[in-house]
Amino acid sequence: MKKSVLIIYTGGTIGMVNDPETGILCPFNFDQITLEVPEIREFDFKIDHYTLPELIDSSNLSPRLWVDLCRVILEHHEQYHGFVILHGTDTMAYSASALSFMLDRLGKPVIFTGSQLPIGKIRTDGKENLIAALEIAAAGDPGHPIVPEVCILFGDRLFRGNRATKINAESFDAFQSFNYPPLAEIGIRVHYNRDAILPLPRSPLPPTAFYNLDARVAILKVFPGLGADVMEAIISVPGLRGIILETYGSGNAPTHPGFLDNIRAALARGIVIYNVTQCAGGSVAMGQYETSRELLRSGVISGRDITTEAALCKMMHVLGKCTSIGEIRTQLNSNLRGEITPDK
Ligand code: ASP
Repeated sequence: MKKSVLIIYTGGTIGMVNDPETGILCPFNFDQITLEVPEIREFDFKIDHYTLPELIDSSNLSPRLWVDLCRVILEHHEQYHGFVILHGTDTMAYSASALSFMLDRLGKPVIFTGSQLPIGKIRTDGKENLIAALEIAAAGDPGHPIVPEVCILFGDRLFRGNRATKINAESFDAFQSFNYPPLAEIGIRVHYNRDAILPLPRSPLPPTAFYNLDARVAILKVFPGLGADVMEAIISVPGLRGIILETYGSGNAPTHPGFLDNIRAALARGIVIYNVTQCAGGSVAMGQYETSRELLRSGVISGRDITTEAALCKMMHVLGKCTSIGEIRTQLNSNLRGEITPDK
């Protein structure tokens, strides 16, 4: 049977073309994809498309889209070898992270891609990104895809979705994964880094998704001059359940009472605090310096080398899935989908 790949279009720059009459950028009609990207006719697999009812600039992303995307993937899971999701670059790392946690026993490629220039522009990066994403989504034998996980393809690299971050607003190499190697490099051939790719799920059960996400979370970035009143305002948000605390270096934060008392007060109110570093690369190592020891003692959880995007989505997922604080802590400490490097 011929392999097939489903393109799911959510919006973003990649799908934009100039309206021939008005010249204004407008969303692309996927029924005409082979006119816009004729190269894809050469693939020996079938390509279908699914356009979401509401196309968005990804700055308008909400967790609702993640639920919709999981539904579309699960509804079509049997028919397709892999999926390519066209998405705006601005929040792509959040969506790829969220889907990596929500989809369970996935076993198929889900490749997010987008572009810096619309597909209808002469120098677009969108065509190459789309073509490479399609090739990778179809790679492997039926039932044995080469990359059975949620990824981001951009420029000449394929990254694990929950390890990637947008680092450049203009360059065609807009994404980077500082703490995990690329899953593939795209040159004359696609060179897969097979040791870095997650294995196929062992369970014979079909894939499923956890749809429940708890968005009662906040990101608090530590900065010189962060006032106790700002912290108080955040921790007293009614119903707040989790804080991603973006700290300095290897997880360090102020030691004065104005800061630490608020951290302790938040923890005492049952708010879970996950410590991630503001640095692009490297890991939180709480207890290494005096300035992180108190966080550790108070019960702040180390996010190790997780990205802020993945930490936020993991927190929403874990808070939506678990009820007891012990279970929440265990899950946040665990490597669920390759998003953190476990201790050796
Ligand atoms: N603002 C756009 C979006 O994220 C940018 C892009 O597509 O790259 O939807």
